[in-house]
Amino acid sequence: MKIEGGCYCGAVRYAAEGKPVMKAQCHCRQRQYFSGGAPNMFMIMPADGFAYTKGEPRRFARKDLLTPRTREFCGECGTHLLTLRPGLDAVILKVGTFDDPSQFGLPRAAIFTEDKQAFHCSRRTAGV
Ligand SMILES: [Zn+2]
Repeated sequence: MKIEGGCYCGAVRYAAEGKPVMKAQCHCRQRQYFSGGAPNMFMIMPADGFAYTKGEPRRFARKDLLTPRTREFCGECGTHLLTLRPGLDAVILKVGTFDDPSQFGLPRAAIFTEDKQAFHCSRRTAGV
């Protein structure tokens, strides 16, 4: 599959092609900072099929962690685009940055649900 996407202001664009490695929703406390509080919806795509097609992202990795994730985001509008995990030859794309977020379909799993907040809807609480 091919996914195209970018940030809110359009300064940074990307394309990702290949077979999705995983798609899920993450409830971990760390991701809540980047999502605004909601679970983070992500799709992992192979690194060799990924390229920025416009602009260059800014990067951030915490210096106080042994194996920090690198977060790439638009330096203009601040949209968080993806995460890189040490040892993972793939990009962890944020589904909200897809041109067509419906390409995500449904998550295959919910992870770090121990950090789930009471206000996070689930299939059961949402009545779906
Ligand atoms: Zn932007």
